[in-house]
Amino acid sequence: MTIKTTGIVLKVQDYKEKDGLAWMLTQDQIVSVRVRGIQKEGSKLRSGCQPFLYATWHIEERNQGPGLLIHATPICFFYRVMEDLTIQAFSFLLRDILLKTKSSPLLLEAFLEYLKAVQDQRNSVFAYGCFVLKEILCAEGIQPFVDGCTLCHRKDALETLSIKDGGFLCHYCNQNGIKMYKSDMRKVYLLFKASSKNIDVLIENCHFEIKDCIFWADWYERFEQTHLAGLKFLKTVVDL
Ligand SMILES: [Zn+2]
Repeated sequence: MTIKTTGIVLKVQDYKEKDGLAWMLTQDQIVSVRVRGIQKEGSKLRSGCQPFLYATWHIEERNQGPGLLIHATPICFFYRVMEDLTIQAFSFLLRDILLKTKSSPLLLEAFLEYLKAVQDQRNSVFAYGCFVLKEILCAEGIQPFVDGCTLCHRKDALETLSIKDGGFLCHYCNQNGIKMYKSDMRKVYLLFKASSKNIDVLIENCHFEIKDCIFWADWYERFEQTHLAGLKFLKTVVDL
């Protein structure tokens, strides 16, 4: 049976002598396919298999293993991902995390909006990047608790975000720990309350930088108890 699916190509790698394997983020899953002859010069499928390409794939399903890609139609290639080293390193980091996360329509939409922001060179690009990370943290159930103090649940006198405790802390639970600027706490709150429909409010009210993206990627690494080589690389790039 042949199926048709649309999404963002995440990864392509060589397979055996002439073939390739490719992965696409779609609304409900990450689809993997075998791409016959992609390493050969003049392969018609190659242009439909590049990371950060929004495309439609026609796949012939197999009884075992990944299906066979038989036709690929590029819709939009976000080539500006490759034009800036920080953006590139961060985009590949997002890609690596997305490959480990269960897909959903929300995730696909968030990642697509981020790529559009990159392509349009919007200065809100890192807000969109943080929004993707926020959707990932929520999908994994490791988002910070922002509806009050994470320890005592009181809603007033909140004064910091604790990584150790996984959410906001009040003055009493913080026990003379470091306080956070009110504006930074508001930014965290608005990020985790934002939806794709009102992301404009977030962008109008808060400014996000690459260090915010790194903060939430660190959060992911800590609460998933994993190691992201791409995050280490991004930090090296940003420190340059
Ligand atoms: Zn408390």
